[in-house]
Amino acid sequence: MASVAPRDGFTAPPHQPVAGSAASVSASPDEFKPLHLPPAWQAQLAGAIRDPRELCRRLGLEDAWLAGAQTGHALFEVRVPEAFVARMRHGDANDPLLRQVLPLGEERLAREGYVSDPLAEAEHTSSRGLIHKYAGRVLLITSPACAVNCRYCFRRHFPYAENSPSRAQWDATLDALRDDPSISEAILSGGDPLAANDRQLAWLVARLEAIPHLKRLRIHTRLPVVIPDRIDEALLGWLDATRLQKVVVLHINHAQEIDDAVIAACARLKRAGVTLLNQSVLLRGVNDTTDALAELSERLFEAGILPYYLHVLDPVAGAAHFDVPDDEARERVAELRKRLPGFLMPRLVREVPGEASKTPL
Ligand SMILES: *Cc1c(COP(=O)(O)O)cnc(C)c1O
Ligand code: SF4
Repeated sequence: MASVAPRDGFTAPPHQPVAGSAASVSASPDEFKPLHLPPAWQAQLAGAIRDPRELCRRLGLEDAWLAGAQTGHALFEVRVPEAFVARMRHGDANDPLLRQVLPLGEERLAREGYVSDPLAEAEHTSSRGLIHKYAGRVLLITSPACAVNCRYCFRRHFPYAENSPSRAQWDATLDALRDDPSISEAILSGGDPLAANDRQLAWLVARLEAIPHLKRLRIHTRLPVVIPDRIDEALLGWLDATRLQKVVVLHINHAQEIDDAVIAACARLKRAGVTLLNQSVLLRGVNDTTDALAELSERLFEAGILPYYLHVLDPVAGAAHFDVPDDEARERVAELRKRLPGFLMPRLVREVPGEASKTPL
């Protein structure tokens, strides 16, 4: 993945001064403050751990883990913000949050069927940054960066730099949406779309809502989980204002990811009228027990989030050690169904290239 700063993925028009802003009022002590203090979340993103040695030291891991971490890091760099690290158990290499982000030497091993673009997205990316695979829904690569690098990610080999639209490409993408009345939902994806800044996102959403046949805005993001401070006033401003119906699909794999700050961030999103859903990936060593899955669903609901999808792993090169075989996945879900109300059951699915929807298992 390209190691770009969050704002690089998106080229919005230059900032327009707002009437009545600090720039236009008469002299006051305020004029000595910088006009654009970066938001707190951006500082946390910039300060994320990006060195395997630092990650091992921060969590008190034995040196034995470092060699593997460095091997994996060379293939796909470490990135994890402190707010997420703070939810991990010190000294425990099997912590379910750490397992998601700690590189291992196994990532170097090739396994048959595990490839660099398992979803064949390269074939479906029509104009750059737009993926139209499913009826009525279009996926827009809004920011190439992520707040966290997940070791199992199917996009770990994705050519982000080539999918970072320029202003002219955004115009072409928006024209394509305007010309296709069958599209009712725009899905902001990435990378992580909320790694783009709020000025850029407000610009994009204003363009989208001007397209009359668009009804829904969906945002697929992990940022409210890894940096809950991302859900700040600036974000809530454009989100609350849009006429579009809003769905945020979070990505949480384990109950331990949901702390009080995440619950508070979710409450802010709900107050802005957002429907909250969650997708998880079934991962060996992270959430592959019935207990872990049941606790996850219960905890999601406590945070006001409904389980949506439970994905089996996409066969991406470097992630084979996370795989849970299909039979075992079905068994886990059958056990889960005996324990949970129907509305807390995620749908077990796989993404099959060329299919018109996710494929139920
Ligand atoms: C998963 C996905 C969607 C959304 O699918 P839903 O079943 O509506 O959640 C849309 N476009 C692409 C390319 C996808 O991979
Ligand atoms: S946040 Fe999502 S896109 Fe980014 S690395 Fe993790 S799984 Fe992949």
